Amino acid sequence: MAETLSEPRANGATENLTDRLRITEIFYSLQGEADTVGWPTVFIRLTGCPLRCHYCDTAYAFQGGEWLSLSDIMAVTHAYGARYVTVTGGEPLAQKACLPLLQQLCDAGYRVSLETSGALDVAGVDPRVVKVMDLKTPSSGESARNRYANLEALNPHDQLKMVICDRSDYDWARQQIEQYRLPAICDVLLSPGHGLLAPGELADWLLADRLAVRLQVQLHKYLWGDVPGR
Ligand code: SF4
Repeated sequence: MAETLSEPRANGATENLTDRLRITEIFYSLQGEADTVGWPTVFIRLTGCPLRCHYCDTAYAFQGGEWLSLSDIMAVTHAYGARYVTVTGGEPLAQKACLPLLQQLCDAGYRVSLETSGALDVAGVDPRVVKVMDLKTPSSGESARNRYANLEALNPHDQLKMVICDRSDYDWARQQIEQYRLPAICDVLLSPGHGLLAPGELADWLLADRLAVRLQVQLHKYLWGDVPGR
């Protein structure tokens, strides 16, 4: 079904084709994050990312993968019979054909979410898609890549996520929440860096500060550990 072509470019982006995508994996699991946590979901993981976050848990998606046509991706997705589909990466928006894939998934009736770093323009994403967009905290090493213009392209059903690795990340997040009035835009998720910050500690901080945000733990890592394809 698929052919293996050239490797992604050195900056982590792949060729900008409109009818096929370089895919690391398509798998069926429980949603581990955001507001559909726990729902059986098909995950479509696109290859390549222009960022290099220090805590990245999907570095295996930086290179490799295989080219699949959009019709092949849709066929693999249909075979699982799920209601929810998450397009993730890597950074999915680094590949041009991500946008038509999202549109086709919505047209097919799926409840679609997109996990994105927040570093690339999200304005072209189909408005039916729930965007789960990161604001990169200082511990990621990539906070200079945050594209704040994206905040204007978020809808109330979207979600903003910050991975908190230590107290200084938390203080930065609190400042961002206040400066940009983030809870007025959409739900804000604070997620403790897995193995870096105890979830209970983060819970205590956000309760003490009366923050209008949600604590998020990554369900799949509690169920199966930090393994690819789960
Ligand atoms: S944006 Fe996501 S995939 Fe890219 S380096 Fe950061 S955590 Fe990893």
